[in-house]
Amino acid sequence: MSKIPFLKPNVVDIDKYKHYVDRIDRSHYYSNFGPLNTLFEQKVLEGYFDNHGAVTTVNNATTGLMLAISALKRSKGRYALMPSFTFSATALAAVWCGLEPYFIDVTEEEWCMDEKLLHDAINELGDDLAIVIPYDTFGKGMNLSFYEKLSNNGIPVVIDAAASFGTNVDSVQFGKGFSGAVVFSFHATKAFGVGEGGLIYSEDKDLISKIRQSSNFGFSQERETFIQGLNGKMSEFTAAIALATLESFDLKIKHLQNLYDLYSDLFKKTRLIDDGWKLQKTSSTTPHQFLPVKCPKDTQNTEILGQLLSSDIEARTYFDPACHEQELFKKYPSTSLEVTNSLSTSILSLPLWVGLTETQVSKIIGVLKNVR
Ligand SMILES: *Cc1c(COP(=O)(O)O)cnc(C)c1O
Repeated sequence: MSKIPFLKPNVVDIDKYKHYVDRIDRSHYYSNFGPLNTLFEQKVLEGYFDNHGAVTTVNNATTGLMLAISALKRSKGRYALMPSFTFSATALAAVWCGLEPYFIDVTEEEWCMDEKLLHDAINELGDDLAIVIPYDTFGKGMNLSFYEKLSNNGIPVVIDAAASFGTNVDSVQFGKGFSGAVVFSFHATKAFGVGEGGLIYSEDKDLISKIRQSSNFGFSQERETFIQGLNGKMSEFTAAIALATLESFDLKIKHLQNLYDLYSDLFKKTRLIDDGWKLQKTSSTTPHQFLPVKCPKDTQNTEILGQLLSSDIEARTYFDPACHEQELFKKYPSTSLEVTNSLSTSILSLPLWVGLTETQVSKIIGVLKNVR
């Protein structure tokens, strides 16, 4: 039997974006918010956000987070409140902005920041609070009402929505209408994968225009640097791929959703759920890049990883280690991280990519069924 890889990134075929690249050849416009980038932003704003608010593209989501945090953070604040159960880019972006991460534990069922613990930390920190950075864990489409309230009360919020482009909550794109910043990743491994790229959305058009300025050296119209900036622009070549990706994204989402449903059915039918396996609690439709699942209480994810590998199945353990367990972040403060610690030793990320067959999913489920 051939190996089942963890990921098979599939960026659109060249014949789908070649005509856009031909346009670049003719226009000689390679970057700097050129015509393809403009077209892409217009299509996203219209198709995903009903022309409500504004968007700006970035060269990747890590830069996007840095720019959004830098634009919004309270200037005298010290701490960036965030989960430890996230990719290290969330914490790194805050550190690049001169802030110290302050890790908040997550909830058992949804694996997003615990709002009660967060609320208490906000009150305790007072003026030392610089910003709040929730992560929409694995693109689940978390409820944003708590964060909208914070944002309306003057507490800056940047959402790490790296995996949430294409996530629909009640048939609406996740993040739509949010008054803080929402940062999406278009890295090849994400559902909307173009190679390297990202997008920042906000209902607040002035905020997006400020972030856009900072992504272009902080330039004014006259090319004089007015605010702190860097080069975070997306190239026209990436925009070409992104435009073609938009055209086939609904189909890709459908494929991924079908695979998720298949997994979810099999977890129930084979009684893995009764054995203590747990899927993330969600009420949205998410274009999963992999299937995150929690192992039963008395099992270790690393052992199961080994058992899968001996059946030629490659899996991962996102996010193990969690941020607070990684060298650079060990020194930063946190709430109790009881749930995060138990989650990071029991989380398993299973293959879920376009082209994965029903037989392969059944094989993966079969291995889990025979664990121990
Ligand atoms: C992928 C990811 C990022 C980084 O996105 P890039 O576009 O690769 O910079 C940030 N945060 C989370 C949670 C991610 O999964």
